[in-house]
Order: sequence, then C-alpha cells, then structure tokens
Amino acid sequence: MATNNIWNPHMETMSRDQMRVVQSERLRDTVERVYYNIPYYRQRMQEMGLAPEDIKSVDDLKHLPFTTKSDLRDNYPFGLFAVPMSEIIRIHASSGTTGKATVVGYTRHDIGIWSEVMARTFTAAGAGKSDFIQIAYGYGLFTGGLGAHYGGEKIGATVIPISGGNTKRQLQLMEDFGTTVLACTPSYAAYLAETIEESGISRDELKLRVGVFGAEPWTENMRREIEKRLRIKAIDIYGLSEVIGPGVSFECEHQCGLHINEDHFIPEIIDPDTLEVLPEGELGELVFTTITKEGLPLIRYRTRDLTRLNFDKCACGRTIVRMNKCTGRSDDMLIIRGVNLFPSQIESVLMEMDETTPHYLLVVDRVNNLDTLELQLEVEDRFYSDTIGELQALRKKITHAVESATGLSVNVKLVEPKTIERSEGKAKRVIDKRKLV
Ligand SMILES: [Zn+2]
Repeated sequence: MATNNIWNPHMETMSRDQMRVVQSERLRDTVERVYYNIPYYRQRMQEMGLAPEDIKSVDDLKHLPFTTKSDLRDNYPFGLFAVPMSEIIRIHASSGTTGKATVVGYTRHDIGIWSEVMARTFTAAGAGKSDFIQIAYGYGLFTGGLGAHYGGEKIGATVIPISGGNTKRQLQLMEDFGTTVLACTPSYAAYLAETIEESGISRDELKLRVGVFGAEPWTENMRREIEKRLRIKAIDIYGLSEVIGPGVSFECEHQCGLHINEDHFIPEIIDPDTLEVLPEGELGELVFTTITKEGLPLIRYRTRDLTRLNFDKCACGRTIVRMNKCTGRSDDMLIIRGVNLFPSQIESVLMEMDETTPHYLLVVDRVNNLDTLELQLEVEDRFYSDTIGELQALRKKITHAVESATGLSVNVKLVEPKTIERSEGKAKRVIDKRKLV
C-alpha cells in the first residue's frame, strides 16, 4: 500500500465497502445524538414521522431533513449545539455577513478532528516535520488561520502564525526563516508573487516549494500563473466553517479533484430545485452530513456550492471520493477576496439612505489577481444640480456604509438617474467579470 504523502492510510485508502460500514455506524450515532440533544432536529424528524432507529445505513440519509444557513441564523447563537456550553472550548463565526453571523462551536474532540483533517491536507501537499509552514490565512473568528495552524502542528512542521496582511513582513520572514510551505488565499498568493518580483528579492533566496490555497474559488489559469511566478506547486483546499473549517477536502499531488474526508463528512449531490439526490457523477449542489462532530453536528447541510463527485480510485492510492473544483453557486452569493457577499446586503445598506434610488449594479472583476468590487449607483437628481463637494461627501458616506457592513473595500461610482439599464424581469444586479473555469 502506498503510504507516501498519506497521513492516515487506514481511513484514506480503505475499500468502498469498509467506508460504507464506517459511515453507516457513525451516521446512526449522529442521528441519535441530534435527535435527543437538539430540539430543532427532534421536531423536524417528528414532523416527518422519522425516529432515530429508521436510519440504519447511508442509504437512509436521503430521508433526513436538510439544514441551511438560515436554520443556523434562526437558532443563533448556540441553538443547534448538541452539547452543554461547558464542553465547548472554541467558537468561530462567519465573516462578511450583515446581521446575525453563523456561529460554530467545537468540543476538544472536534478540535482533534479538525487537526486530523488538516494534517491529512498538509501531508497530501507533501509537507512534513522538516517544513516551515507560513500561515497567512486570517486568525480570529474566521476559521482559516487556526484550522491550518493545528494541522501544521499535528504533522510536526514548524508553524509560522503570521496571519493575513503585512506583506513586507511576510516576505522578510519567508526569506529569514526559510519558509517552505505557504498557506493563504490564492489571490493573496498572487499578490505576494507580484510583491516578490517588485521587491528585488531573488526567487533563489526563497525556499518556498508548495502552497496550500483555499477559502475562495480560483481558476486553473490562476493556478498555473501562481505556480510559474512563485515556482511552487499550488494545492487547492476546500472547507466551510459550518462543516468544520478548512480541511473538508484537499487535493493530492495529482491535482485532479479534492479528496473529501468522508469518514467525517458524508457528501451528497442534489438537484437544488427538486432537492432529489442526483446519480453519481452528475453536477449539482454539494450537501454534507457531519458524522463525528460533537459540538455542532449538521444533518444534510446545503453548501450551495455546485460540483460533482468522482468515486474512482485516485493515482495517489486514496479511495476517498473526490469533488471537482467548485464551479458556481446555487444562490446569488459572491465570494470576493475570501469574503461572502450577497447583493441583498448592499441593498439593505442603500435602502437606509434617502439620497439614492433603488437602482444599482455591482461589478466584480479580478485585476492583477486581486478581486475588485465596484458599486454603480444612481443618486437623486438634486445632487447633480448641487456642488461637486456634496456629491463627493455622499460618495464617501456610501463607501463607508458599504465597507462597514460587508468588510469589503468598494469603489463607489455615482451615476445620474436613469443610466443603469432597467430590466423587465429580475433585475440584473451583478456583473462578474472574473473568469472561473
Ligand atoms: Zn489523489
């Protein structure tokens, strides 16, 4: 058995039949736990006439209710937790949304699972004890930084917890410490590549050899460009805080789909309209059921990410299923520089101002590998008869309001009334010029 670059050969290379046994057993336990410990799930199951003993194997998964992001918000902050707060040792929360955030909680056991799946991720990327892993994902309520951190420590690497930003310092530490593995968002990696070129640091002075990049969608073209400019292998990883954070799935050295840690998270692909489970290999919405988490177990969580599954054994020796890079969303959420944004968030900011009309357009683009957001907005006629100073003050006010509501920097462009194209049907609010192939 090939154990090269495989952290947990037992779980990552077991036969499909064995995996079904593991999943079925863990699913039964989970269903029992959510039924008896979370009133919300008990009520949903009772309404459907389902008892815990009706769920015998993974084949019965399809009978269980779905969970959505709004279910998490409706039960804010701790309503879906399955253990008393005294057993929760960590809280994270989603970034970039207005109103109530999505709160997730971890027991000590859950932090162990998270470290395990991130250890598998780094190992698959070829990292080990002798590596220096520079973690430039944000630390804090966002799950990126700490998730990667614990995984890096678990494999025995030397972890550099620098967090995001502070680019000059990133480069200096990269040079001085001899960083070999970079973990951050792909757009930040591209920005670092550019800064290295401008800084006069010779690439030969750096020991960087692999990047572990996630938290936002990116293209194959962007991967090739980062690989060429940083002279590294760029590995894609996927995760979402509701399921655990980074480490839900990861690419191996063959870069042909992301292996899902399905002994912890069972994936399904559904039709987002009919909610029916789709046959193997079809494109649809990715749904996860967590089967080992204690703090916040989730049944059939709808990720809204569109992808397909591939159950063939991979050349790396892993038998765990692969998902394709996500190609889109089943809702209108945008991911901009790793931050989730719904056009409705912008709309609610604008609604509170009487200077603007309800006509706006968001233009998302990628310039020098960094996402940009422009808000084109019609303002009341009277502003065009007033002084330039007033227009500028208004622009400033809107910029500030949007930035503080979304956490994203935005370029506000005020336009005269009736200049944004009107639509007969559903208004077109977003133009996304980024090519995600
Ligand atoms: Zn593989």
